[in-house]
Formats: sequence, structure tokens, C-alpha cells
Amino acid sequence: MAAAVSDDIPFDKSFDLMPDIPKEVAPNVRAIVANNPGPFTFKGTMTYILGRGKVAIVDPGPDDDAHVTALLDAVRGETVTHIFVTHTHRDHSPAVPKIKAATGATVFAEGPHRLSRPLHIGDTRRLDASADMDFRPDTALKDGDTVSGDGWTMEAVTTPGHTANHMAFAYKEGDILFAGDHVMAWSTTIVAPPDGAMSDYMASLQKLARRREPTYLSGHGAPVRDATRYVEFLIRHRQGREASILHRLGKGAADVPTIVKAVYIGLDPRLVGAAGLSTLAHLEDLGARGIVATDGPPSINGTYRLTERPPCGG
Ligand SMILES: [Zn+2]
Repeated sequence: MAAAVSDDIPFDKSFDLMPDIPKEVAPNVRAIVANNPGPFTFKGTMTYILGRGKVAIVDPGPDDDAHVTALLDAVRGETVTHIFVTHTHRDHSPAVPKIKAATGATVFAEGPHRLSRPLHIGDTRRLDASADMDFRPDTALKDGDTVSGDGWTMEAVTTPGHTANHMAFAYKEGDILFAGDHVMAWSTTIVAPPDGAMSDYMASLQKLARRREPTYLSGHGAPVRDATRYVEFLIRHRQGREASILHRLGKGAADVPTIVKAVYIGLDPRLVGAAGLSTLAHLEDLGARGIVATDGPPSINGTYRLTERPPCGG
């Protein structure tokens, strides 16, 4: 899931895969896109097959019979030994039970779905339907854990923010990061409390900015090239958005809808709800840092103010 409007990030919206037809996207890596396009999924969820002969699958995808069939066809005559899951949104993990049943592969992930923080009264749960609450990995991975298969090694890289349990996987021999929905070429990701958290997301971007993989293969869209530079763009973009929100608060905007209207110019109407949650994520983070105050815990319906007027008067 993803979305946002921005002209400061060098997005790449190219895409040349056909639904459910596998294609090699990097040496030793095939991609197969599920036929679930939409405003949050772009052309669909990307499933990856790592290796040849004895293979791993990254993000089996939605519980969609055509996708499951196409994925099993793609690995016909091969042995699936491992399944990796980046996070537990319904477009990424619900095909796991069918793929596991058909292949006997072992499932690796950070853990079951969980919220980034406890629920507050007034929290909307409108993205609730997006979570796969049934998912359980066979093996829970911690940051830095490595898993090896036939000709590949994966390093687990915890990257919370989009979800609390989001995990990227570094394919060491290929110098590629499977980045899930944390970093995508076509769009920024959604950071929607209480599922996600802005402070976690920013820390996870900073963590990737210190890594060296030049190419990311993401949960949606084309590969990310020159990835370290791209991550710097994402960091600056969120810092810019935070500055815009502070500016609007300084001008007297006090609630999420008013801020969204002022900050997200030209927003796809289907993404207004997501933009509201992204704004709430910023406000939560600013509140935790003592820069913004609200009455009671931050919520989508709350009213917000700066704790002190900025020197310029806003
Ligand atoms: Zn997601």
C-alpha cells in the first residue's frame, strides 16, 4: 500500500510486467505481479522468486487463486524451500498458507501483525481491513539474522514504520534489498497510525541511508535504482511535509482535514483518507517531540496547536 503527491522525489512510474507472467528483473530474481491494481497498490503486488532449482519466494501476495496458480506454475519443477514475508498487509501475506501447503516451504518474517502503539479513544480503524491478522511465521527473524538457501543468503533488516512488523531482506550475493512497501519507486509509502508510526518510519529510512545496496526490489512498482540517493529524497520529502504542517499550524490550522487541504495540493480524492492518516502520523511524532500539543492523545478528530509560536510568527 502506498500513496502521496509530491514533485520533489524522482519517482519512476514505469512498469512492464503483465499480471501473473513471471519475468527476470535481476540476476537470479524473477518477479510476478498479482492482478490487484489500485490507488494503494499501483499495478499490483510484486511477488519475487529468488534462485533457480531450489528457490525462495518473497511476499506470496494476496489470496487470489489466479496469482497462487501462476506462482506455483512459475516454480513448477523447482523446490520452494523458503518463504519470506515483508509485512502483513492483505495484499502481501494471505497467499502464504496455500503456497506453504503446496510446497512445504518454511515461512520467515518478523512476526504476526501488531499495531505500532496502543489504540486511543477516537482512533479510526479504517485501514483495519488491510491487515492479515491470521499470519504467523514458522521462524521469527530479528534484525541482522541471516538465512541461507541454495546459492543465496538473506539478511533480515527490520524497517518498521509502514507497519510495526515490516522487514526488508538483503540478498547478499546480488547486492539487492527486497524493500517491501518501505521504499518504492512509484510513490511514497503510507504511514497510518496506529498500524504505522512516523518516528519508526523515519528511523528506518535513516537506517537504509547507511546501507550500500544500489538496487531495491519493492512490494509495488519498478525496481528502485540509485537507492541510497532515493532514500535521501524520501527523508527530505518527509522533513518538508513536517515543515509544511508546522507552517499551517502556525497560520491557525488546527485540525487534520484543514491541514490536509492546505498541504496536499492536487490530491487524488481516493487518497484523502490516507493523507489524513499520514498527517496524523506527523502530528503524533511532533507531539511526542514536544513541538505540537493536543488535548488528550492524538487522534484524527483532534485539535492541534504549536507549543510555542515559531520565531518568524509562522
Ligand atoms: Zn503494505
